[in-house]
Amino acid sequence: PAPGTPLLTVEGASKQFGGLRAVDDVSFDLHAGEILGLIGPNGAGKSTMFNLITGVSAASAGRITFAGQDVTGADAGTIHRLGMARTFQHVRVLPDLTLLENAMMGGYARVRAGVPRSMLHLERAEEAALQQEAMTQLERVGLGAQAFALAGNLPLGQQRVLEVARALVAAPTLLLLDEPAAGLRYGEKQDLAALLRRLRGEGLTILIVEHDMDLVMNLVDRLVVMNSGRTLAEGTPAHVRGNPAVREAYLGV
Ligand code: ADP
Ligand code: MG
Repeated sequence: PAPGTPLLTVEGASKQFGGLRAVDDVSFDLHAGEILGLIGPNGAGKSTMFNLITGVSAASAGRITFAGQDVTGADAGTIHRLGMARTFQHVRVLPDLTLLENAMMGGYARVRAGVPRSMLHLERAEEAALQQEAMTQLERVGLGAQAFALAGNLPLGQQRVLEVARALVAAPTLLLLDEPAAGLRYGEKQDLAALLRRLRGEGLTILIVEHDMDLVMNLVDRLVVMNSGRTLAEGTPAHVRGNPAVREAYLGV
């Protein structure tokens, strides 16, 4: 997109499940190079919002624009190939595969669009290139030395970091992280935050859902606060922290 144009624009996005408005007329912009936090109580609609942005489910109304293209209603594979990669709220590493094999999973969509994983037969050169890229990304996040260990033997904190590496193998411009610090110890959270700051410094744009307020407030450039499917507030951490509606509905202070 042209300079000053948001990388991602969400305009009036809504998602109904039966009578429930899980996401209700939500609008926000995400600018290239920033870390934007999406916060709010359980059930606020954050994961549903992620699913709309990434094409996992289709919005009932509204428009989503990514990298200058209208991606409203586009499928997940198409959006992924435009440069968006994500992690899910629950860890999805394959425990019986090595870190390297797990990281390689992040690149299959690029190599063979639309081919089910079970039918993948990569050419030897493609396989080698993908393996090389997976190793590069493992090293980038500090897991290079464990590339041939089984993912299931890693502590949770490193499994989360492995998921980031797997997402990076797709060479995204936008990385979406759904509660990446859930269940992590304090030190692991600090390490994760340092990694995300470094990735931002390397030009990556990040949208993060996170419950740990200390982590969020010290990490993000801006915040969008959701409550009951709607946007309650938007702005810098300092601005949001001082917002009376946010304090009442969410922060509980
Ligand atoms: P958050 O991630 O903020 O905790 P979610 O987006 O997961 O919230 O959920 C928002 C609301 O939508 C909740 O009330 C949840 O129960 C409901 N919901 C989410 N996904 C579905 C679905 N596939 N079918 C029906 N209801 C859903
Ligand atoms: Mg969620």
